[in-house]
Amino acid sequence: MGYRHPNPRLAKIHHSYSVEDLARLFKVHKNTVRNWVGQGLEPIDDRRPTLIRGQEVRRFLADRRARTKQTCGPGRIYCLPCRAPKMPAGNMAECIRGGDTTGTLQGICPDCNRMIYRRVNLLNLDAVRGDLDLSITQARLRIEETAKPNVNCDSSGDNY
Ligand SMILES: [Zn+2]
Repeated sequence: MGYRHPNPRLAKIHHSYSVEDLARLFKVHKNTVRNWVGQGLEPIDDRRPTLIRGQEVRRFLADRRARTKQTCGPGRIYCLPCRAPKMPAGNMAECIRGGDTTGTLQGICPDCNRMIYRRVNLLNLDAVRGDLDLSITQARLRIEETAKPNVNCDSSGDNY
């Protein structure tokens, strides 16, 4: 999974990019780039393959980033069914650490009682948490920590 807020400046203004180029550049899936096109990223023309100017990529991503910031301020978690940022019920949320710098805020939508989630960069946690009463927990151990291959176990021979 790619970074949720691609850095617009990665796109060079005078370059044209194909969907594949952009997927590689921003480390996202090609379908993500196709979604961007559906959300207002303007290709140069209707011809195939789709080409998009770097300048347009920057504009689109910068707009999108500004919108996201606006709709989900500190202490809010976006509720998809309600289509709105919400203060979680009881102003409480759990922050589940997923990696060294990433985590997920988890709370309950006060209006529809569904679980709501927000991916956060832990380095920005203080800015994101607002007035939330936050408890921080560690996610389950990662697979490489729990399932280390045992190098001493050679199952190829049965001569012992
Ligand atoms: Zn809701």
